[in-house]
Amino acid sequence: MSLLEIKNLQVSVEDDRQILRGVDLTVNPGEVHAIMGPNGSGKSTLAHVLSGKDGYEVTGGEVLLDGADLLAMEPDERAAAGLFLAFQYPMEIPGVATMTFLRTAMNAQRKKRGEAELSTPEFMKRVREEAAKLSIDPEMLRRPVNVGFSGGEKKRNEVLQMALLQPKLAVLDETDSGLDIDALKIAAEGVNRLRSPERGMIVITHYQRLLDHIVPDIVHVFFNGRIVRTGGKELAHELEAKGYADYEQEVAA
Ligand code: ADP
Ligand code: MG
Ligand code: MG
Repeated sequence: MSLLEIKNLQVSVEDDRQILRGVDLTVNPGEVHAIMGPNGSGKSTLAHVLSGKDGYEVTGGEVLLDGADLLAMEPDERAAAGLFLAFQYPMEIPGVATMTFLRTAMNAQRKKRGEAELSTPEFMKRVREEAAKLSIDPEMLRRPVNVGFSGGEKKRNEVLQMALLQPKLAVLDETDSGLDIDALKIAAEGVNRLRSPERGMIVITHYQRLLDHIVPDIVHVFFNGRIVRTGGKELAHELEAKGYADYEQEVAA
Protein backbone atom coordinates (compact mmCIF):
# COMPACT_ATOMS: atom_id res chain seq x y z
CA MET A 1 0.00 0.00 0.00
CA SER A 2 1.15 3.56 -0.64
CA LEU A 3 2.15 5.60 2.34
CA LEU A 4 0.50 8.77 1.10
CA GLU A 5 -2.09 9.13 -1.60
CA ILE A 6 -3.34 12.55 -2.57
CA LYS A 7 -6.10 12.36 -5.14
CA ASN A 8 -7.47 15.35 -6.99
CA LEU A 9 -7.12 17.61 -3.94
CA GLN A 10 -8.86 20.95 -4.31
CA VAL A 11 -8.58 23.67 -1.71
CA SER A 12 -9.92 27.19 -1.41
CA VAL A 13 -9.23 30.02 1.02
CA GLU A 14 -11.45 32.86 2.17
CA ASP A 15 -13.59 34.49 -0.55
CA ASP A 16 -13.71 31.08 -2.28
CA ARG A 17 -10.40 31.71 -4.00
CA GLN A 18 -9.18 28.35 -5.25
CA ILE A 19 -5.49 27.69 -4.50
CA LEU A 20 -5.09 23.93 -5.05
CA ARG A 21 -6.58 22.78 -8.35
CA GLY A 22 -6.47 19.02 -8.32
CA VAL A 23 -3.24 17.82 -6.70
CA ASP A 24 -2.34 14.17 -7.35
CA LEU A 25 0.64 12.70 -5.51
CA THR A 26 1.59 9.21 -4.35
CA VAL A 27 4.48 8.59 -1.97
CA ASN A 28 5.65 5.04 -1.30
CA PRO A 29 7.67 3.93 1.73
CA GLY A 30 11.36 4.71 1.30
CA GLU A 31 10.88 7.50 -1.23
CA VAL A 32 12.07 11.07 -0.95
CA HIS A 33 10.06 13.44 -3.13
CA ALA A 34 10.92 17.04 -3.91
CA ILE A 35 8.26 19.56 -4.85
CA MET A 36 9.56 22.63 -6.65
CA GLY A 37 7.59 25.54 -8.00
CA PRO A 38 7.43 29.30 -8.24
CA ASN A 39 6.40 31.54 -5.40
CA GLY A 40 2.63 31.67 -4.91
CA SER A 41 1.92 28.39 -6.70
CA GLY A 42 0.38 26.81 -3.57
CA LYS A 43 3.18 24.63 -2.20
CA SER A 44 2.86 25.87 1.38
CA THR A 45 -0.92 25.65 1.13
CA LEU A 46 -0.53 21.94 0.41
CA ALA A 47 1.74 21.52 3.46
CA HIS A 48 -0.69 23.46 5.67
CA VAL A 49 -3.68 21.42 4.52
CA LEU A 50 -1.81 18.19 5.27
CA SER A 51 -1.03 19.52 8.76
CA GLY A 52 -4.69 20.31 9.44
CA LYS A 53 -4.24 24.05 9.82
CA ASP A 54 -7.41 26.16 10.00
CA GLY A 55 -8.43 28.57 7.29
CA TYR A 56 -8.44 26.21 4.31
CA GLU A 57 -11.52 24.66 2.79
CA VAL A 58 -11.13 21.32 1.06
CA THR A 59 -13.65 21.42 -1.77
CA GLY A 60 -12.74 18.12 -3.42
CA GLY A 61 -10.49 15.10 -3.48
CA GLU A 62 -8.98 12.99 -0.73
CA VAL A 63 -5.80 12.29 1.20
CA LEU A 64 -4.98 8.83 2.53
CA LEU A 65 -2.13 8.15 4.97
CA ASP A 66 -1.51 4.41 5.17
CA GLY A 67 -4.98 4.01 3.74
CA ALA A 68 -6.67 6.12 6.45
CA ASP A 69 -8.56 9.34 5.71
CA LEU A 70 -6.09 12.00 6.82
CA LEU A 71 -8.45 14.95 6.29
CA ALA A 72 -10.94 13.48 8.77
CA MET A 73 -8.32 13.52 11.55
CA GLU A 74 -7.55 16.29 14.06
CA PRO A 75 -3.96 17.62 13.89
CA ASP A 76 -2.89 15.55 16.95
CA GLU A 77 -4.39 12.41 15.40
CA ARG A 78 -2.39 13.10 12.25
CA ALA A 79 0.80 13.24 14.33
CA ALA A 80 -0.10 10.01 16.09
CA ALA A 81 -0.75 8.41 12.70
CA GLY A 82 2.85 9.20 11.81
CA LEU A 83 2.76 12.56 10.01
CA PHE A 84 5.36 15.21 10.76
CA LEU A 85 5.37 18.70 9.30
CA ALA A 86 8.30 21.09 9.48
CA PHE A 87 7.94 24.70 8.47
CA GLN A 88 10.67 27.21 7.85
CA TYR A 89 9.50 29.52 10.61
CA PRO A 90 8.63 27.27 13.55
CA MET A 91 6.51 28.60 16.37
CA GLU A 92 8.10 30.29 19.38
CA ILE A 93 6.68 29.14 22.71
CA PRO A 94 7.78 31.47 25.50
CA GLY A 95 7.78 29.90 28.97
CA VAL A 96 8.03 26.29 27.76
CA ALA A 97 11.46 24.71 27.93
CA THR A 98 12.43 22.88 24.75
CA MET A 99 13.04 19.69 26.74
CA THR A 100 9.51 19.84 28.19
CA PHE A 101 8.04 20.50 24.78
CA LEU A 102 9.80 17.49 23.24
CA ARG A 103 8.68 15.24 26.05
CA THR A 104 5.08 16.45 25.77
CA ALA A 105 5.09 15.87 22.00
CA MET A 106 6.50 12.35 22.37
CA ASN A 107 4.14 11.37 25.15
CA ALA A 108 1.09 12.80 23.38
CA GLN A 109 1.94 10.67 20.35
CA ARG A 110 2.49 7.57 22.53
CA LYS A 111 -0.73 8.11 24.43
CA LYS A 112 -2.78 8.40 21.22
CA ARG A 113 -1.23 5.13 20.10
CA GLY A 114 -2.07 3.44 23.40
CA GLU A 115 1.60 3.18 24.41
CA ALA A 116 2.99 3.89 27.89
CA GLU A 117 4.74 7.20 28.58
CA LEU A 118 8.51 7.15 28.49
CA SER A 119 10.12 7.22 31.94
CA THR A 120 12.30 10.23 32.71
CA PRO A 121 15.56 8.28 32.37
CA GLU A 122 14.45 6.70 29.08
CA PHE A 123 13.39 10.07 27.71
CA MET A 124 16.61 11.77 28.83
CA LYS A 125 18.71 9.05 27.27
CA ARG A 126 16.97 9.33 23.90
CA VAL A 127 17.08 13.12 23.83
CA ARG A 128 20.77 13.19 24.75
CA GLU A 129 21.63 10.64 22.06
CA GLU A 130 19.72 12.45 19.32
CA ALA A 131 20.88 15.92 20.44
CA ALA A 132 24.50 14.77 20.34
CA LYS A 133 24.10 13.53 16.75
CA LEU A 134 22.91 17.02 15.81
CA SER A 135 25.62 18.83 17.80
CA ILE A 136 22.94 20.44 19.95
CA ASP A 137 24.25 22.05 23.10
CA PRO A 138 22.23 20.62 26.07
CA GLU A 139 21.91 24.23 27.27
CA MET A 140 19.69 24.93 24.25
CA LEU A 141 17.19 22.33 25.49
CA ARG A 142 16.64 24.33 28.68
CA ARG A 143 15.72 27.48 26.78
CA PRO A 144 12.09 28.22 25.80
CA VAL A 145 11.11 26.69 22.46
CA ASN A 146 12.61 28.68 19.56
CA VAL A 147 12.68 31.94 21.56
CA GLY A 148 15.80 33.82 20.47
CA PHE A 149 17.07 30.76 18.60
CA SER A 150 19.19 31.43 15.52
CA GLY A 151 18.00 30.05 12.18
CA GLY A 152 20.40 27.13 12.56
CA GLU A 153 19.24 26.40 16.12
CA LYS A 154 15.57 26.41 15.08
CA LYS A 155 16.36 24.01 12.28
CA ARG A 156 18.33 21.71 14.60
CA ASN A 157 15.45 21.75 17.05
CA GLU A 158 13.03 20.70 14.33
CA VAL A 159 15.27 17.92 13.14
CA LEU A 160 15.64 16.76 16.75
CA GLN A 161 11.86 16.67 17.10
CA MET A 162 11.58 14.69 13.89
CA ALA A 163 14.26 12.23 15.00
CA LEU A 164 12.48 11.66 18.31
CA LEU A 165 9.01 11.26 16.80
CA GLN A 166 10.21 8.91 14.04
CA PRO A 167 7.40 9.83 11.62
CA LYS A 168 6.21 7.59 8.81
CA LEU A 169 5.89 10.61 6.56
CA ALA A 170 7.84 13.84 7.00
CA VAL A 171 6.95 16.97 5.05
CA LEU A 172 9.46 19.81 5.12
CA ASP A 173 8.46 23.18 3.73
CA GLU A 174 11.73 24.99 3.15
CA THR A 175 9.84 27.86 1.62
CA ASP A 176 11.13 30.97 -0.12
CA SER A 177 14.31 32.76 0.80
CA GLY A 178 15.95 33.19 4.16
CA LEU A 179 17.19 29.67 4.71
CA ASP A 180 20.89 30.27 5.27
CA ILE A 181 23.48 27.76 4.19
CA ASP A 182 23.94 26.41 7.73
CA ALA A 183 20.22 25.82 8.21
CA LEU A 184 20.05 24.28 4.76
CA LYS A 185 22.82 21.81 5.55
CA ILE A 186 21.27 20.94 8.92
CA ALA A 187 17.92 20.27 7.25
CA ALA A 188 19.64 18.12 4.62
CA GLU A 189 21.64 16.09 7.13
CA GLY A 190 18.52 15.57 9.24
CA VAL A 191 16.56 14.31 6.27
CA ASN A 192 19.37 12.09 5.05
CA ARG A 193 19.88 10.53 8.47
CA LEU A 194 16.17 9.70 8.68
CA ARG A 195 15.93 8.17 5.22
CA SER A 196 14.78 4.60 5.63
CA PRO A 197 12.94 1.90 3.67
CA GLU A 198 9.81 2.43 5.80
CA ARG A 199 9.71 6.22 5.77
CA GLY A 200 8.57 8.67 3.12
CA MET A 201 9.59 12.30 2.86
CA ILE A 202 8.44 15.32 0.90
CA VAL A 203 10.79 18.27 0.65
CA ILE A 204 9.21 21.43 -0.65
CA THR A 205 11.77 23.90 -1.87
CA HIS A 206 12.61 26.76 -4.14
CA TYR A 207 16.22 25.81 -4.06
CA GLN A 208 17.95 23.49 -6.42
CA ARG A 209 20.85 23.96 -3.96
CA LEU A 210 19.03 22.07 -1.20
CA LEU A 211 18.62 19.15 -3.59
CA ASP A 212 22.40 18.93 -4.00
CA HIS A 213 22.41 17.88 -0.34
CA ILE A 214 19.16 15.91 -0.28
CA VAL A 215 19.14 13.90 -3.49
CA PRO A 216 15.46 13.14 -4.15
CA ASP A 217 14.15 9.99 -5.79
CA ILE A 218 11.35 11.87 -7.50
CA VAL A 219 10.94 15.55 -8.40
CA HIS A 220 7.60 17.27 -9.05
CA VAL A 221 7.00 20.63 -10.63
CA PHE A 222 4.21 22.48 -8.87
CA PHE A 223 2.54 25.21 -10.88
CA ASN A 224 -0.70 27.11 -10.46
CA GLY A 225 -2.08 24.81 -7.75
CA ARG A 226 -1.20 21.41 -9.12
CA ILE A 227 1.62 19.08 -10.06
CA VAL A 228 2.27 19.62 -13.73
CA ARG A 229 5.30 17.41 -14.24
CA THR A 230 7.09 14.54 -12.49
CA GLY A 231 10.55 13.19 -13.13
CA GLY A 232 13.80 12.04 -11.59
CA LYS A 233 16.43 14.12 -9.87
CA GLU A 234 17.61 15.52 -13.20
CA LEU A 235 14.37 17.50 -13.41
CA ALA A 236 15.63 19.75 -10.60
CA HIS A 237 18.70 20.63 -12.64
CA GLU A 238 16.57 21.32 -15.68
CA LEU A 239 14.42 23.72 -13.65
CA GLU A 240 17.52 25.45 -12.32
CA ALA A 241 18.67 26.05 -15.89
CA LYS A 242 15.34 26.87 -17.57
CA GLY A 243 13.11 28.18 -14.80
CA TYR A 244 9.34 27.94 -15.09
CA ALA A 245 8.85 29.87 -18.34
CA ASP A 246 7.63 26.80 -20.27
CA TYR A 247 4.92 26.17 -17.69
CA GLU A 248 3.83 29.81 -17.72
CA GLN A 249 3.32 29.57 -21.47
CA GLU A 250 1.32 26.37 -21.13
CA VAL A 251 -0.97 27.93 -18.55
CA ALA A 252 -1.40 31.09 -20.64
CA ALA A 253 -2.23 29.06 -23.78
P1 ADP B 1 3.94 28.95 -2.25
O1 ADP B 1 4.25 28.25 -0.98
O2 ADP B 1 4.01 28.09 -3.46
O3 ADP B 1 4.76 30.21 -2.41
P2 ADP B 1 1.41 29.57 -0.99
O4 ADP B 1 0.73 28.28 -0.74
O5 ADP B 1 2.10 30.22 0.17
O6 ADP B 1 2.41 29.42 -2.21
O7 ADP B 1 0.37 30.60 -1.55
C1 ADP B 1 -0.44 30.34 -2.70
C2 ADP B 1 -1.48 31.43 -2.82
O8 ADP B 1 -2.46 31.26 -1.82
C3 ADP B 1 -0.94 32.82 -2.67
O9 ADP B 1 -1.60 33.65 -3.59
C4 ADP B 1 -1.31 33.18 -1.25
O10 ADP B 1 -1.47 34.56 -1.11
C5 ADP B 1 -2.60 32.44 -1.06
N1 ADP B 1 -2.86 32.01 0.33
C6 ADP B 1 -2.18 31.07 1.00
N2 ADP B 1 -2.70 30.89 2.23
C7 ADP B 1 -3.74 31.75 2.33
C8 ADP B 1 -4.70 32.06 3.34
N3 ADP B 1 -4.70 31.43 4.52
N4 ADP B 1 -5.61 33.01 3.09
C9 ADP B 1 -5.62 33.65 1.89
N5 ADP B 1 -4.76 33.39 0.91
C10 ADP B 1 -3.83 32.48 1.10
MG1 MG C 1 5.57 31.64 -0.90
MG1 MG D 1 5.70 28.50 0.40
